[in-house]
Amino acid sequence: MKIENCKLKIVVCWLYPELMSTYGDRGNIICLTKRCQWRGIDVTVQDKLAGADLIFGGGAQDRQQEIVMRDLSGKKDQLQKMFDDGVPGLFVCGAPQLLGRPYLGIFDMETSFPGGPRLIGNLVGEISSHYNLEPRTFVGFENHGGRTYLGPGVKPFARVIKGFGNNGEDGTEGAVYKNCLATYSHGPFLPKNPAVADWLIKTALEVKYRKEVELKPLDDALEHQAHDFIVKKYGH
Ligand code: GLN
Repeated sequence: MKIENCKLKIVVCWLYPELMSTYGDRGNIICLTKRCQWRGIDVTVQDKLAGADLIFGGGAQDRQQEIVMRDLSGKKDQLQKMFDDGVPGLFVCGAPQLLGRPYLGIFDMETSFPGGPRLIGNLVGEISSHYNLEPRTFVGFENHGGRTYLGPGVKPFARVIKGFGNNGEDGTEGAVYKNCLATYSHGPFLPKNPAVADWLIKTALEVKYRKEVELKPLDDALEHQAHDFIVKKYGH
């Protein structure tokens, strides 16, 4: 039996909100919160992992990432356990770099910092069919010095149509590991791609309640217009 949206509760963990939140990553938290509230789903945002149903990590400057790493290394086992349990996460730019090598090494991907030009600009991609999302495209904005290369233990989140993606060479963008999604697209990534926001919310609730959850549809006409405008402008 499906549970009514107004009887559901979700706890979102926003990792290191003061150190890891560049280029509007906070917009992702606002989007998740509002899309739950509009459906009557009770939502709490906290900065600790314990008790979280959904995890969000944003981008950071290299110096802030080093500070975060000193603390995050003590949380590796806790994160791995949550991912193994199916807890979904969205990790943007600096956050997935920390979850891969040469840092925590949970995600099978390696980021190098060659010191060349930064990869900056609008990003459009075709989302992996793994997600079965409509629209299939995502739009975002990237700004990173790191180049990320995926290993066989993760799959790309998308194929680059416009922009650089993981490394500017192999056409991959982001990564999928269990129910986690990594991307180089900064905030407001979710407001521009509401289907991805709903996938995260639905997955978090289904893992928590061990039941199928049907999210009440929302009027996303404006979001889709903005999304389509960028797709038409930059990608085909
Ligand atoms: N410091 C990382 C890089 O430049 C991540 C940057 C970011 O999160 N925008 O590669």
